[in-house]
Amino acid sequence: MRKENYEEIQAVHPSDLLRLFESLGLKQQLLSGQLECAVCGDVITADNFRAIARKQGEIIFCCSRAGCSSLFAVESAEEV
Ligand SMILES: [Zn+2]
Repeated sequence: MRKENYEEIQAVHPSDLLRLFESLGLKQQLLSGQLECAVCGDVITADNFRAIARKQGEIIFCCSRAGCSSLFAVESAEEV
């Protein structure tokens, strides 16, 4: 049995968002618009942030656009 390559996708409550990004060391990147949705490439902000996942040690994000979150789940679960 192979262990899947992703850890988890988290839905994050808005009030925890900045704390989460801060704990990841990514708060500055979030606030300055340097993070992108892994699906559509839009800039992730505190307003459109939807989900976060870890893929092969890399942290990826998903915006709140319709369709992105479902594609994101597939993308994140993909084995390479
Ligand atoms: Zn998106």
